[in-house]
Amino acid sequence: ASSLVWFRDDLRLADNSALAAAASRGPVFCLYIHDEGPERRPLGGAARWWLSRSLAALAKSLTDKGGALVLMQGDPARILPEVVAACGIDIVSWNRRYDGAAVALDTALKANLLAAGVKVESHNANLLNEPWEIATTSGTPMKVFTPYWRAARAKGEPATPGPAPERIDALPLPPQLKKRALPLEALALEPTAPDWAGGLREAWMPGEAGARQALAEFLDGPIRGYGEERDRPDKAATSRLSPHLRFGELSPRQIWHAAQAAAHAHPALQGDVDKFLSEIGWREFSYHLLFHNPGLATANYNRRFDRFPWRNDSAALRAWRRGQTGYPIIDASMRELWTTGWMHNRVRMVVASFLIKHLLIDWREGEAWFWDTLVDADPANNPASWQWVAGSGADAAPYFRIFNPVTQGEKFDPKGSYVRRWVPEIAGLGDKSIHQPWKARPAELAATNIRLGETYPEPIIALDLGRRRALDALATLGGN
Ligand code: FAD
Repeated sequence: ASSLVWFRDDLRLADNSALAAAASRGPVFCLYIHDEGPERRPLGGAARWWLSRSLAALAKSLTDKGGALVLMQGDPARILPEVVAACGIDIVSWNRRYDGAAVALDTALKANLLAAGVKVESHNANLLNEPWEIATTSGTPMKVFTPYWRAARAKGEPATPGPAPERIDALPLPPQLKKRALPLEALALEPTAPDWAGGLREAWMPGEAGARQALAEFLDGPIRGYGEERDRPDKAATSRLSPHLRFGELSPRQIWHAAQAAAHAHPALQGDVDKFLSEIGWREFSYHLLFHNPGLATANYNRRFDRFPWRNDSAALRAWRRGQTGYPIIDASMRELWTTGWMHNRVRMVVASFLIKHLLIDWREGEAWFWDTLVDADPANNPASWQWVAGSGADAAPYFRIFNPVTQGEKFDPKGSYVRRWVPEIAGLGDKSIHQPWKARPAELAATNIRLGETYPEPIIALDLGRRRALDALATLGGN
């Protein structure tokens, strides 16, 4: 039987359930549709860059196996039935997605194809557990991470990841579709002028091979001590797998089994591996939340926050985005994000807390900026994490827990090397003042050519003032 594999957030050959099923049955038509329809949230700039590179890598690996990736642009609800008819497809095969708009589209498409006599099969290839497979004893969605992850782990090992198909027998592109198939450049995913992607190109290797390499390097090195070091933005202590996972260049099943194999070979690693897998668990939990709350990126999970008195302050928002707040750890992090499309988890929490609490700016503004600038901008992880910091999310940090950017910097970047790397204009400061330049002695400032307010900003808000204002704002919500 002939199959159409519709690639979406699963840009890989290995452990790709939809592709494996299709390739084992007969000829395959591999399709990616760039969908910028009004009901879909448009991808941000950094994610578009990644997508472009990842599609190029996928096309090459498919060709190496005898297959071919066809790219189209538009509404899948129209394109897919047209391709199915033109190619005489028997079965359409895809791996599931979980955000509200995608679920609605896939559900409607499936019904239409079935009505037209075409079989549709969907697979789970991007989560360890489907969002509906884990529930409370009364059958309701989980709201707290620890019992969620306990229940997930109690299900035992996830299925063994499958290999890439040995060969793919490509279905030829019918003449009537020739005009619809686009070259990658026609999708215009990468920036041209200005080309802001230089730092991204330097930092990353998108695609399945890059993902596999990142996993192997992590399990060879930083996994040792991950539990201790994962909070340190000044060290390369985490896997940096997030964009690879976001685009499905690697599956959580592959990660799970590779990490457990590492612990099996070196039993002393088991604690670090368990901690690492629990972070994969947070990703699973975010998808669980997104599936049950399709409005996660726009609506407070806890509706009590609907009345929160956010401030409109475009100047402060701009300073935060550009890494010009006068708080070195915040500015370093925001510049790392802008330059590389990624930011370390600890400082993601710190910059989010600063925006939401010290600046009293709506978490949705921060979520949107991250969405545009992160290569791993994820429909589940991003809003779930922002709501977690805001205190409006499920199992969230309480709003009154306000990170102090100075003490966070001193604790997690103790030598200031992270700040010096990303905020070079204050790199000459000593360890005592690197996280609070306004405390540096005039002689030190003079010796390092730093003029606060000129070469580096004064703090845009005093910490105690910001803190008090945030707590006052919280108090307006009244009790629970
Ligand atoms: P590792 O520590 O190596 O973890 C391995 C994997 O586990 C990650 O790749 C990721 O898939 C998952 N993971 C780790 N921490 C978390 C977490 N707290 N929540 C959910 N999944 C996690 N992650 C994204 O993938 N996309 C986002 O858009 C995103 N936005 C965030 C926004 C804020 C405000 C915060 C506080 C966190 C956000 N995170 C997001 C979660 C986390 O910061 C990143 O997943 C992590 O920093 C990626 O680096 P890593 O791959 O080296 O992580």
